[in-house]
Amino acid sequence: MFTGIPEAPQDPILGTTTLFNADTDPRKINLGVGAYRTEDGKPFVLEVVREAEAQMLKDLGTKCNKEYSTIDGPPELKKQTQGLLFGKDNEAVTSGRIASVQALSGTGALRVATEFIKTHIAKGGDKDIYVSDPTWGNHNAIFAKAGLTVKSYPYWAPATKSLNIDGMLAALGAAAEGSIVLLHACAHNPTGVDPTEAQWESIVKVMQEKKLVPLMDSAYQGYASGSLDKDAYAVRLFLSKGFEFFMCQSFAKNLGLYGERIGMLHIICQTPELAKVVLSQVKLVIRPMYSSPPKHGAELVMHILGTEAQYAKWQQELEGMAKRILEVRDLLRKGLEAKGTPGTWNHITDQIGMFSFTGLSQAQCERLISQHHIYLLKSGRISLAGLNKGNIQYMVDCVDEVVRA
Ligand code: PMP
Repeated sequence: MFTGIPEAPQDPILGTTTLFNADTDPRKINLGVGAYRTEDGKPFVLEVVREAEAQMLKDLGTKCNKEYSTIDGPPELKKQTQGLLFGKDNEAVTSGRIASVQALSGTGALRVATEFIKTHIAKGGDKDIYVSDPTWGNHNAIFAKAGLTVKSYPYWAPATKSLNIDGMLAALGAAAEGSIVLLHACAHNPTGVDPTEAQWESIVKVMQEKKLVPLMDSAYQGYASGSLDKDAYAVRLFLSKGFEFFMCQSFAKNLGLYGERIGMLHIICQTPELAKVVLSQVKLVIRPMYSSPPKHGAELVMHILGTEAQYAKWQQELEGMAKRILEVRDLLRKGLEAKGTPGTWNHITDQIGMFSFTGLSQAQCERLISQHHIYLLKSGRISLAGLNKGNIQYMVDCVDEVVRA
């Protein structure tokens, strides 16, 4: 029965971790997967998460238990996570016109959103979804699996290593009315380049004119600027302009809850009545897919967002992570400039978030992997979280070597 099934290629991002784990060289560095590492290169469990875990253990059997969750997750979680993105006093939140469901992290939210879109917006027919070129690789696969037609809009200008805003606006202006547009809410993956506030306004304008539907992906709130509110700028702009839209939210990076698979899908509707109907249909997407979401991550998020002191502490920890990434950006740029490595390196500190789109060619990336045990994506994307004061000079020396090779 299984004969003749071809073996699938490794996932380009997760595959780098497999190669890294198999490498026995002590100098090896993993810059593939986007997961925060401490200055010692270790995975990081936030203090607020440790405290929430301890509280949960105390509450087990009284305030919390291991019964099934509801299909859409706890109401309290919905209110808190809406508040985090849209502002807790925002009219859309207080009026109840946002249909929210807990999801299996950001990926699960994107999958549920696009299944819903295929059934109820495309009504089973064709629907274009535009993604930035480039984008997080899994976007293409998720949307294609949901049966949408994936198209792209220009985003990255290689010559200037910055945003190709004119190309983006022109492509959106030429999209069919009612198309879906995937937008990275902040800290664009993989480029680390976000639109300025003025550029966001131009994007809003063309999307209003063409009646395009935003599908916003917020996987790095707090990572771009260190401030949760600042990083919600684009989300709140679209809300203020009266769009009906889809909003996917992940707590993998900003709370370090990668493996807990905790996220949300919020669907912003015109009225509370519409939100009620939409929610009823989203639940029909979820029930046959995985029935109901896991409780553990939901409890952790509710504890942290629901306790003022914990929330404040989270912001501090988040700022600390963002600051460390900024420091390594600075060290990498300065190191390459001090060495006189051919090329310009200002983009490393101009870019924001967890990643840098280095501009290294595929051949240079392959050489970093095969000769120097430095694992990165062949597109040149590096996760800066994998760098620290202990390995930065090795990184600088190796990048210099491959650029000159
Ligand atoms: N969107 C973007 C842009 C991402 O970078 C990621 C994680 N790499 C995700 C969504 C989803 O991540 P998760 O499913 O772990 O929340």
